[in-house]
Amino acid sequence: MSLSLSILASGSGGNCGILRNGAGGSALLIDCGIGPRTTAQRMQPLGVGLDDVAAICLTHLDYDHFNMTWLSEILRRKIYLHCHEDHVDALLARANNRDLAPRVRPFNGQAFLAVPGVRARSFALPHDELGSFGFVFDARGGRIGYASDLGRCSGELVRHFRGLNVLAIESNYDPRMQINSSRPWSLKRRIMGGSGHLSNQQALDAVRQILDRCQKDGEELPRHIVLLHRSRQCNCPRLLRKLFSSDRRIAPRLILAEQDRATSWLWARPQRGAGAQLELQWG
Ligand SMILES: [Zn+2]
Repeated sequence: MSLSLSILASGSGGNCGILRNGAGGSALLIDCGIGPRTTAQRMQPLGVGLDDVAAICLTHLDYDHFNMTWLSEILRRKIYLHCHEDHVDALLARANNRDLAPRVRPFNGQAFLAVPGVRARSFALPHDELGSFGFVFDARGGRIGYASDLGRCSGELVRHFRGLNVLAIESNYDPRMQINSSRPWSLKRRIMGGSGHLSNQQALDAVRQILDRCQKDGEELPRHIVLLHRSRQCNCPRLLRKLFSSDRRIAPRLILAEQDRATSWLWARPQRGAGAQLELQWG
């Protein structure tokens, strides 16, 4: 049994990740910033349907992370919605539907069961007024860290992200492209002011600190390092690859999540039998 993650969509047009522990396990969505139909289309090649989604874990309530078109699916399919206790009132007010309350599972700093077999723990991230939440998902099949929409990297993030098999972290913008963009100055200030988003260099520094810590503790490095929430207007994949490839530990593990298509499954641990299958193909 192995824990695996795919990023179905990432960026200001909508964010959604999917996590599963083993092929037959229930699926967990991390945010649902794209509608159910698009989500279903992107999950299909991964072998997952909407029926398999048992719960959704919300980082925060911005529109690119919680798309209201999910409301009817959540109610109809009896999907659980994990939401930080400080965000529940705002969530219920926005949904304005009394049937939603029984579907909401508030979390706080304590560990909680995200879907059967997968334990989650949240930690607060600086982002706008209400903040956002990062997660560590733990199962027998591995450990995945997920942090998006954070204004700056804290020691707490590095502490939580130990022993990861898959690391997913925001790398939102290149500062020069941000400053030179046609965006209003108030927006630029919000993004770059420490409570908005991580720049590429800040994300690289965070990843390096996490890897340094791994090596210091004698742990294996994460198998995959996934960059999330890349700005279309103020970032460039070539720049990002060049910057992150300056660290030889990162280059072979690097994956850039896309806004308009899903990544393949990123396995926290090698699939049992994968080696045997390869041998058969190559033999
Ligand atoms: Zn966002």
